[in-house]
Amino acid sequence: MDLEQYIRNVPDWPKPGIQFKDVTTLCKAYAPFKESCDRIINHYKDKGIDKVAAIEARGYVWGGVIAYQLGAGFVLIRKPGKLPYKTLSETYELEYGTDTIEMHIDAIEKGEKVLLFDDLLATGGTAKAACSLIEKTGGTVIGIAFVIELTGSLHGRDEIQGYDIFSLMEIPVEE
Ligand code: AMP
Repeated sequence: MDLEQYIRNVPDWPKPGIQFKDVTTLCKAYAPFKESCDRIINHYKDKGIDKVAAIEARGYVWGGVIAYQLGAGFVLIRKPGKLPYKTLSETYELEYGTDTIEMHIDAIEKGEKVLLFDDLLATGGTAKAACSLIEKTGGTVIGIAFVIELTGSLHGRDEIQGYDIFSLMEIPVEE
């Protein structure tokens, strides 16, 4: 099944110059949504994953399904101030300014094997910060999975080199 045909490109959203890759058109249909989950689950099914950590909000759509099917727990990585208990946080650079993500301090135990999931890899800043959060707890990042990997000038893969990266499709960034 060609999953890329289910991705909607929304030009100039949320701001001029951004080609937003909309995954809601993939997950709203059962067959491609199931296929996308299954491909990631099959890739990681023999890797002894203890926890799947995903980044809000679109990461949760796939992350919970993947965790359930892998027999793993699910960990929420969120924007600042959203998690109710004590958190670890990681701040990372954006083109203009910074962003921060947080995770509960007790979400992952030392030595646990973690699969990180997000819907899309762009510059890699978010995924790198999420890996740092996981590693602060003593967890090991076994892999990082994405529905979409943007390739070309963003060099997201370089930012998270050394990790096992698994993406369902590569889409070149239009300059
Ligand atoms: P980055 O940290 O640059 O790799 O950005 C990844 C995060 O931003 C992911 O959580 C994506 O959902 C979101 N994102 C960045 N660029 C896009 C894009 N062109 N289309 C859709 N989502 C994007």
